[in-house]
Amino acid sequence: MPVDYEEAKKKLSALIKQCPVCAQNQWGLLPNSFSMPIVDLDSKKMHLGGEMVPVLVLACQKCGHLELFNPMHLGVYSKPSPSAEGTQAPGTSR
Ligand SMILES: [Zn+2]
Repeated sequence: MPVDYEEAKKKLSALIKQCPVCAQNQWGLLPNSFSMPIVDLDSKKMHLGGEMVPVLVLACQKCGHLELFNPMHLGVYSKPSPSAEGTQAPGTSR
């Protein structure tokens, strides 16, 4: 997922100041994108391989509290160019 982590850090530092758990202001953006799988509440099953919510994780460096943000909502996600899309199946190596 092409995420501009430097832009994400700038936007998040403007959004969040004080940790709601320890009241410190020492945050670090984890260097990867994560996902939250969507759960079917009726069957109580996850749909692995289905839709998911992308998340960036901001971690309090003092107490370890985690805050989650959607990179698409922050405007720090850009779709891959069409020429790069579909050139390699996920999970395969060249
Ligand atoms: Zn904290």
